[in-house]
Order: sequence, then C-alpha cells, then structure tokens
Amino acid sequence: MSANSDTSFQIVKSSKGTNKLSYDGYLYIFHRGAIKKEWRCDVRGCKARIHSVDETIIKKSGKHSHPQEYGKDEVTVMKDLLRKRGRETNDNPHVAIGEMTSLLSESAKSLLPNQHALKMMYKRQRVAPPNPVSLEELQLDAENIKTFSNRNFLFYDSGIGPDRIVIFANKENIEFLTMSKIWLADGTKRWQWHHNFVRCEFSSKTQTCPSQA
Ligand SMILES: [Zn+2]
Repeated sequence: MSANSDTSFQIVKSSKGTNKLSYDGYLYIFHRGAIKKEWRCDVRGCKARIHSVDETIIKKSGKHSHPQEYGKDEVTVMKDLLRKRGRETNDNPHVAIGEMTSLLSESAKSLLPNQHALKMMYKRQRVAPPNPVSLEELQLDAENIKTFSNRNFLFYDSGIGPDRIVIFANKENIEFLTMSKIWLADGTKRWQWHHNFVRCEFSSKTQTCPSQA
C-alpha cells in the first residue's frame, strides 16, 4: 500500500469520508481545483503542497515542517475498511481487528491506535434497530444479545404479550447477586415499560447487576 513511484500517488479515504492523497510518507488534503488539483499537507501549519492532474503529480511546493510517517496511509485505509466491516458484518471485533492488523507493514502497525480505541471505532459503526414502541413489537434475537466479553446476556424472556418480563443478565451476574445480603432495586419507566435495575452490596462496594461488563 505504501509503494509510490516518483510522481504517482494513492487516494485514501479519511475518517470523515473525504479523499486524501498519499505520497512518499505524507498525506495531503484536497484544497482546491477541478482538472488541476491542489492538495495541502494534512499536518496543521505545514506549508507543503502538491499539484496533480489525473493520476500524476505535476508540481510540489513548500517544505514539510515534520518528518515522513510511512504507514500513515495504510492506517487510514485500514481504519476506513474496519469501519465498513463494522457497518456491514457481525464479525467479532477481535477477529476483524486481528485480521486487518496482520496485513499492515511494521511502520503502519507502530502508528495504530490501541486495541481498545480500534474496538470502540468498530463497534460504533453498528446500526441499532429502531426502538420498539410496545412489548408486542419487541423482537429479541437471543443469539446476538451478548456482553462485550461475548457472554449471553438474555437471561429470561416470558414471551410476547402485554405482561412480558425480560431479564438481561448473565449467569455470573445472578450468582453474584445471590452472594449479597442486600439488594437495592431501581428503575425508570420509559415508553411502555419499566426498566429495573438491581444493585447489591458486595465487598463493601455497591455494584450494578446486571452489568454489561
Ligand atoms: Zn507536511
């Protein structure tokens, strides 16, 4: 992804969906022009510019005020593909990030954000279904109701009906509750139903059960 001949370049997609020009270890943002395009370095304050026509650089102007960052273009491409994968698949984040990271050069790997940041970026792309307005409309896909650590989170569902009761928790949460002498219940009423939370006192600190940890 990083190979460039003397005057050719690669266009990559930024996090905001705009095109960036990648050339010789630097990234440039489109500045102006139609047939002849002017691109400015994406580092704030840097005066370096590139002028291109079609797929060729015809002029370079200004000097970079910072070193090259080989692999930055790969990271930009990888992030774009990762967001796309997050939107379009249900792939496990660890698997998706691991596969895509393994394709990067060592210099690109050194520029990657940490695993947690990549995971959050991936998960943010997932489109949630519209909120149901009644218990009858509430469709639960038990197989896909999981905690962040991939444990089942739908503990009980009495079935569709006006008095439906659904409990979100995992087995460990319930066992955790049974170990506590004090349970505190709290809840809110939103739309057509109540959300209730149970908290318990354990090891001198209060924890929320169910939790999504
Ligand atoms: Zn620059």
